Amino acid sequence: MRKPKIGIAANILIMDKGPEMLFGLYRAYVNNDYIESLEKNGCIPVMLPVLHNTDDARVQLEGLDGLLLSGGYDIDPLLYGEMPRNELGFTMNEVDCHYIALIKAADEMGLPIFGICKGMQMLNVAFGGTVYQDLHSQKPDSYQHTQNAPRYSASHSVTITEGSFLAGVLGTKVMVNSFHHQAVKDVAKGFHVTASSEDGVVEAIEKAGNHFVLGVQWHPEMMAKFDNEDMARLFQAFAKICGRS
Ligand code: MN
Repeated sequence: MRKPKIGIAANILIMDKGPEMLFGLYRAYVNNDYIESLEKNGCIPVMLPVLHNTDDARVQLEGLDGLLLSGGYDIDPLLYGEMPRNELGFTMNEVDCHYIALIKAADEMGLPIFGICKGMQMLNVAFGGTVYQDLHSQKPDSYQHTQNAPRYSASHSVTITEGSFLAGVLGTKVMVNSFHHQAVKDVAKGFHVTASSEDGVVEAIEKAGNHFVLGVQWHPEMMAKFDNEDMARLFQAFAKICGRS
């Protein structure tokens, strides 16, 4: 079987360290954990840098077998019709618009989509849902979802809905890491919540129907990179689906 070629929606890193002449320089990047986890589990990753002409997203995806949406900055709340709360972190509208263009194009093309962390939240926003701008202030009874532990360590459990794609790969209970202060609030039409933590925070969504669209709130790539078997299996399952289409 030919290895599936997976596009990773990239991010922009604004230089604020190193030689002063580089301050303010924009760099296109993805965290290498995504690349390593995809490669280790049977895929060939390619980076999709942020484009300003969103009409070109479709061409960017041509020849690919799947789309992975990586994590990143907070989401511009204007995109889901809210004004910024005081607790909102750094946002970059152009990154979010590129994600939305990629999601819509991949959806039209029937490409499997796997959203991770902000990538899952962007899936929700692209299809009309909303997010908590800041969990801690808007849902004060929630756990600490910004763990103070190494990235490969699990910090809370999630319960997965029986019969979902995710349950088929991970079972109905799994330990996950957590690096988010935003989370899905109103779920977009056409999506089901298929995992949540015991404090009621949405930890995974799946799109109803035949088109594979999955989002998880944790960072499986940070765990799979260190050979966590559950998360390696999740990447293998995604590779299998992308290899088929
Ligand atoms: Mn969490």
